[in-house]
Amino acid sequence: MNASVSLLRPAPSNPATRPELTEALRAAVTARAEAARNFLREAVAEFGTAGELAFANSFGAEDMVLTDLILQAELPIEIFSLDTGRLPAETYALIGEVEKRYGVKLKIYFPDAGAVEQYVRTHGINGFYDSVELRKGCCGVRKMEPLRRALAGKKAWITGLRAAQSVTRTGMALREFDEGNGLEKLNPLLDWSENEVWAYIRLFDVPYNALHDQFYPSIGCAPCTRAIAVGEDVRAGRWWWEDPTTKECGLHVSER
Ligand code: SF4
Repeated sequence: MNASVSLLRPAPSNPATRPELTEALRAAVTARAEAARNFLREAVAEFGTAGELAFANSFGAEDMVLTDLILQAELPIEIFSLDTGRLPAETYALIGEVEKRYGVKLKIYFPDAGAVEQYVRTHGINGFYDSVELRKGCCGVRKMEPLRRALAGKKAWITGLRAAQSVTRTGMALREFDEGNGLEKLNPLLDWSENEVWAYIRLFDVPYNALHDQFYPSIGCAPCTRAIAVGEDVRAGRWWWEDPTTKECGLHVSER
């Protein structure tokens, strides 16, 4: 019996996930990928011994590009993920697909069960809708505390952040000190365009989250993520009920 996860989904329709693979785009992506690989190799040379360099994989399109770059080049970079317990079914399906495709078992961190139970007893199962403070409290329990454990003892972490993703991400650098977590943060895809990300995924047949085809450019927890309309900011589907300038979960907020 085929035990792979099968989900019923609408037919793919988001054109952003299928850019026309022109010669110019192929050349741009090839150059971008080479630069990102070199950047990662330099990071390994500087931080890569004894598991001091880690990539936080949240399984978005950018993170799948990085996953492919790291695993195909067999770079000694630890890859970890956070399972908040509220992820969409499509993300769990992708996790299984990644494990099969690359022949790896992923290192996944879970929230502290007692802290989640306490939050839910106090604020309700969906308390995060009630205020920015309660939303950040939920992200704190389900994401920030596990992230702190994942980053403990690390000297640098790698993310798939791109500057063009939202108003909260302009002004980022390829490399910056993450004062909140006390280590270097490396953003190898900083200057990539959305087109280049999808061109890489298509050119190298990289697995990706099926929700991207349904107009979810940015995917987090199921209750806090929705599809966006054409022309909306790519982060508009995350915590859509909040002001855009407050919409980070804390994972990538600079303390400066
Ligand atoms: S994204 Fe939503 S469900 Fe997920 S941890 Fe944050 S508030 Fe909680």
